[in-house]
Amino acid sequence: MQELFDSAGNQGHFTLSELAVIFIVLFLAVVIAQLIFRVTHSRFVRKAMLQYKKTAMETLLGHTLNDYKVADNSTFLSAMSNDLATIENSYLLGIFTITIRMIQLVLAFGMMLWYHWPLTLISIAASALAFAISMLFGNRASTAEKLVSEKNDISLSTIKEIIEGFPVIKAFKTEKPITKLYDKSNQDLENAKYSRRMILTLVNIVSQYTGALVHVGIFFLGIYFVHCGYITIGVAVAFVQLMNFVLGPIQSLPELLSAWKAAKQLIYKLENLLSGSASEQGVYALPVSGHNIRLTNVSFGYEEDKNVLEDVNLVFEAGKRYAIVGPSGSGKSTLLNLLLHSYDGYQGNIFIGENELRDISLESLYDNIAVVQQNVFIFDAGMKDNITLFRDFPDAEINRAIALSGLKALIEEKGLDYDCGEYGSNLSGGEKQRISIARSLLHKSSVLLMDEATAALDAENTWSILSTLLNEDDKTTRIIVTHNLDEALLRKYDQVIVMKNGTVIEQGSFEELLAADGYFRSFYRVTV
Ligand code: ADP
Repeated sequence: MQELFDSAGNQGHFTLSELAVIFIVLFLAVVIAQLIFRVTHSRFVRKAMLQYKKTAMETLLGHTLNDYKVADNSTFLSAMSNDLATIENSYLLGIFTITIRMIQLVLAFGMMLWYHWPLTLISIAASALAFAISMLFGNRASTAEKLVSEKNDISLSTIKEIIEGFPVIKAFKTEKPITKLYDKSNQDLENAKYSRRMILTLVNIVSQYTGALVHVGIFFLGIYFVHCGYITIGVAVAFVQLMNFVLGPIQSLPELLSAWKAAKQLIYKLENLLSGSASEQGVYALPVSGHNIRLTNVSFGYEEDKNVLEDVNLVFEAGKRYAIVGPSGSGKSTLLNLLLHSYDGYQGNIFIGENELRDISLESLYDNIAVVQQNVFIFDAGMKDNITLFRDFPDAEINRAIALSGLKALIEEKGLDYDCGEYGSNLSGGEKQRISIARSLLHKSSVLLMDEATAALDAENTWSILSTLLNEDDKTTRIIVTHNLDEALLRKYDQVIVMKNGTVIEQGSFEELLAADGYFRSFYRVTV
């Protein structure tokens, strides 16, 4: 532009046609640079997002069961959806745009210095002032963004609860209060988004207009310098053009920087969530074989000074069958959960073989102990994948697990690839439970735990599942919390452990306990 204007006043170095060629070359260079920028940017974002999400998921899955309960899954969901969109748009795009803008700014100042340093220094001072004013407002955006993310978490968690509680809402006709609850979280979220939008708009307006003022000021000063004969008209025009590259970044940087900082907050949020509470765990790897399990003076409470288990001493011998019975709230499920090391902080010792539970790595513990779960999670996949949990096993082992868990008839009818549906919607409660048993059997652990207490199964199903588990004659130690005081079943256990108020009050075979004529006998009479 400088050469073009100066050539009009016969002060230029190039002819018009030479300038036309220069323009074409420059134009092509800009197009190519833009293309390279766009392609590189898209690749960068794709790679960064893939890595970020993969790392987040790996870190989440690296947590123990114990830690996971602590983590708020709505926050994680929001971190992996809404927050990610902000991170993609503001942080990743931000890094690129900010870098490009800074390069433009430095190059423009360089050229301006080369043209006329006094005018450049004045421009720098004026631009710095405009930048400082805009930045004053920019910091508020970061706080606003954090608030939006928090409100998003709450809103997401409300939606999740409503969807999961749908049957309860319908049955108790609580649509109206629930809608109010949702309205409240929705309003909070939209208000937070409104504040964020307003702050960003304010930052934008302030930076636009202070920038425009500086631009016009430099233009006037340039023309004044031309009048004084300090610079040519071409240089004045070049200055005005170059000021675009200075003011462009200065106008957009406060907004970009505050959005970038705000997005960075979200990255820290996910990092904190994921790094939160990894509890200590042992490193010892148990060999997979029959171990006796020994509890000595074990006490445990969920709250301080309120023990749920009190001085429990027990031995579970390898390969034997144990029933744990007792009234509701006596600590049966807690005992099973302790064996799975779901809670730290118990007193006394739990030995598996010769090793204390605290020293055993969880991975190795889960190799040794399988659980027949209550709320069996069924993946939206085929029957086989749900049994093997997407791992490879020899067909013979899969078939054995299917036969032993009582799934053979179903699979013969529907096939191994029968689609189980979302949350197992194509299966009955009993079938889901059987899948859980098949998983455990395939797992070939030396200890099998089952808490029948919360299994929503009818009596017939419970009976047939328990007898499947108890009949199988292998070396697995079976520890089953049961409410099923059916005589034929109880006789299948080697030992029945009777719990009351967090302690073991009786223990022996079914016959021994009846003969002892103690608590179990009256409990059995009342229950049956
Ligand atoms: P059971 O299986 O014999 O019915 P539990 O082991 O489930 O008994 O519960 C024993 C006691 O511990 C109960 O008083 C119960 O309210 C309490 N409890 C169970 N789980 C928790 C928990 N996660 N947090 C606090 N208290 C709990």
